[in-house]
This record gives sequence, structure tokens and C-alpha cells, in this order.
Amino acid sequence: MTVRTRIAPSPTGDPHVGTAYIALFNLCFARQHGGQFILRIEDTDRVRSTAESEQMILDSLRWLGVEWDEGPDVGGPHGPYRQSERGDIYAEHARQLIESGHAFKCYRTSEELDELRESRKAAGMHLALKPADLALPADEQARRENEGWPHVVRMQVPANGTCVIQDMLRGTIEVDWAQVDAQILLKSDGMPTYHLANVVDDHLMGITHVLRGEEWINSAPKHQLLYEYFGWEMPELCHMPLLRNPDKSKLSKRKNPTSINYYRRMGYLPQAVTNYLGRMGWSMPDEREKFSLDEMMAHFDIQRVSLGGPVFDLEKLTWLNGLYIREDLDDEGFLKALMEWAFNEQYVKEILPQVRPRVETFSEVAPLAGHFFSGVPAISETSFDAVKLGREDLVKLLQFLVWRFEVLPAWNKEALLGEVKALSAHFEMKMKDLLAPVFIAITGSSASTSVMDAMAILGSDMTRARLRHAIAVLGGVSKKQAKRFEKEYREL
Ligand code: GLU
Repeated sequence: MTVRTRIAPSPTGDPHVGTAYIALFNLCFARQHGGQFILRIEDTDRVRSTAESEQMILDSLRWLGVEWDEGPDVGGPHGPYRQSERGDIYAEHARQLIESGHAFKCYRTSEELDELRESRKAAGMHLALKPADLALPADEQARRENEGWPHVVRMQVPANGTCVIQDMLRGTIEVDWAQVDAQILLKSDGMPTYHLANVVDDHLMGITHVLRGEEWINSAPKHQLLYEYFGWEMPELCHMPLLRNPDKSKLSKRKNPTSINYYRRMGYLPQAVTNYLGRMGWSMPDEREKFSLDEMMAHFDIQRVSLGGPVFDLEKLTWLNGLYIREDLDDEGFLKALMEWAFNEQYVKEILPQVRPRVETFSEVAPLAGHFFSGVPAISETSFDAVKLGREDLVKLLQFLVWRFEVLPAWNKEALLGEVKALSAHFEMKMKDLLAPVFIAITGSSASTSVMDAMAILGSDMTRARLRHAIAVLGGVSKKQAKRFEKEYREL
């Protein structure tokens, strides 16, 4: 048997370090067994998926040295490797399941579903909706079918009993079937859900081992059942521990930069980031901290993964990056890496329109554009002295921006302008006044290039990191304040 693993990211935002971590372990597992590693784009969520996000995921994985044998850009014998191009395959498989009685068309309206959930809650019953709960009287089902009502396709699930799952790291996992609902497989627009598309593709693409984040454990019973329904052998499952913040909470962009773009822009070396991700829950047999991707592949053993919540610690990563810079780069290597990082034509061209109209001599360029080449600016509380806002309002404004930016689907100047406008209306402030503290937080000074353009160029994680830093130098947000802010923010 040839081992085949895959990473199956959804292109719905910035390329996440968690995606790179899972990709790395899949790659190492495949290589260690002389197998193949596949990249598949799971873009069935047509509203949130974007081509830009897909491109960023491919670029950033490549930057880290993660190469795939088959994928949307390199092709392969099992394509297409983008789920949005495989609609017919899923529809055909859903049809097969309906024919074999393992799936059914569900004509329930959303109001009826809400009612069903409410009444089950009131009766103290589990909330999972079962086929029996959803069934309509035969004549009503026929009527809705004949009249062509919108419907979804759902899978049959056992009413009770225990589902037993085998996991390569966790051994036997037991899940009560009562908690598992009659999962939707095809949505009313005919698009598949993650569960159907994922199972069908893993099978058709010959995937033998699924290494993925532990947040998918709850999906495993449904997947196992689908494999049974289709009469297919299921790949081995391995649920990897989730990355955590130093306070052990789940790594999230609310607290830490999670985009690979951020680390790239901060000037981390890809080999250091990859090495650090390889340390997440795993260690070399001799416990050394610094190792290359080739060394990791050569010594890889999935059983050495420990389940105790690996902490993604910026300080540790920075320390490791320093080792790489000092030990691995001679003058020439340093220069080359520095040029690849930001001192290159492409990046300088990007910031050129901001700089050219504003200087009279070249010696003004570095002071004016330094913020395009730095991390968080050296600011203090007094940097904001000229801003005509009380401390609480100032912090609130910056915090609201961070929250709005966190959920912004597209990162470009127009979208940013929309957010700033919305907030200036809310705070009843002129745009100029609202942007004054933002300017200081982003550029570190009160006179520089346009702050809107700077944010657009710097990217989401770097922008939010600078805004969060400004909040911190202004004394941070107390628990009480956070409560007040959140209440007001919800009403926005
Ligand atoms: N599309 C899923 C994700 O975004 C894939 C999960 C899996 O590996 O099964 O992570």
C-alpha cells in the first residue's frame, strides 16, 4: 500500500499557522513511508471562499518548504483538486445514498427545524435531530416533493448505541450515537457539505491516512458511517492536538497573530518557522530544538506526538529564528534573505506610490517609510498626547477597529475605508480625527505616509498587532471596560 496523506484547507481567510502545522505533519508522515502528499482545496462554502485566499495558502506553504505531489496548481491523476469543480461527483454519490436508503430528502422548513429544536430542548432531550424527528407524514412529504419545495439531503444515523472510532494517537474513542444528528450532505443549493465532499474525495483520491486537527473528532462518527454506507475502507484517522496560546487557550487571531503572512512580513526565516511548527507536540529522538525539514522527515515518528496541547509561543519562535540568523547565514546568505524579505523590487514598488510624492531627497525615504520595514513601532503613552480623546474613548476606538478588522473578509483599501467610515459614524467623529490615533499606532509617528494605504499594504495581522500594541501601551483594557465595550460593540 502506498501511503497517501493530504491537507484540505478551506480558502476562507489568511493562511493560518495551524494549516501549515497540519500540512507539515502530513508531509513528514507521507515522506517517511515513501508515500505521497496531496493538497486539496475545500471551497464548498461559496460565500466565504476566495481565490486570493487560496493563492495565499499555496504561496505560504511553499514559502515554508511544504511541497505537494498533487494539487490544484500542479495537477495529478485524481483531479480536479478543488471541490467547487467536483459538484457532479458529490451529487452522484448523494443520489447513490438516497437509492440505498442511507440518505433521505428533507423538506423541513427552517421554522419547523427551530420548533423541533425548541420542543426537544423544553423536554430536556438531546438536541441532535434524528431522522425520525425530521420525518413528515407520507402524504405531506409527497406533496412537498411534488410541489418542488427546497430541500436538503441528510444521512441516516442510528438512534442510539455507541460509535467506536480508532485514532492513531488516541486509541479508541467512543461517541454516543444519540448526540449525532442526521447530518446534511447536500445543501438546498445542491452544494455538498464538508462531510460528504471530504469523505468522497478522500476515498477517490486514495487517501490512506487522515492527519487533521482535533476539532474534527466529532465529525468522525459521521464519516465512518458514510464509509460504511458506500462500502469503502476508511483511511486511518489521526487527530492532532490543537495549537494553543501561552495561556493554553486555543490559538486564535484575537490574541496572537495566526497568519503565516504576518511571520513572513515580520522577517522570520521560513526554515525557522517550519522548524518551530515541527516542535509543536513533537520532538526529535535526541530532543534537539533546531532541525531542518529533511532531518524531521528522516526521523519522523507519529507516535512521538504528545497530546498535551502544544503552545505556540512567539518568544520561543523568535529565539529560534535568531539561532538560524546567527548560525546559518553568512554575510552573503543574510543579504540574500534580507533582499527576499523586503528589500526587493516587488515590495519597494508596492510602497513607492506612498513615498515618491512625499520626498525631496532620498535621505528622507527611510525615516518616512520605516514603518513598512518594521514590526510594532516604538510608541508610548505620550505618543498620543496630541489626540483629543479621553483615554477610555481612545482605547475603545482602537479596540473596535481591531474587532472589525478581525472579521473583515477581504483586506483592501476600500474594505478598510468602509470600516473606518462605519466607526466614524458610530463615534460621531470626523474621519480625520478618528484616524489621528490610528496613524500613530500604525506608523509610529504623527507625520508619515497615508495610514489607509499603510494598513492595506501591511496586511491584516500586522495591522491588528500594531493596534493591539497601541492599546497595550495605553494601559490595556480592563475586564470591566471589556464588558462595556462588548455591549456597545454588539449594538453597532
Ligand atoms: N476543510 C477542512 C479544514 O478546513 C478539512 C478538515 C479535514 O482535514 O478533514 O480544515
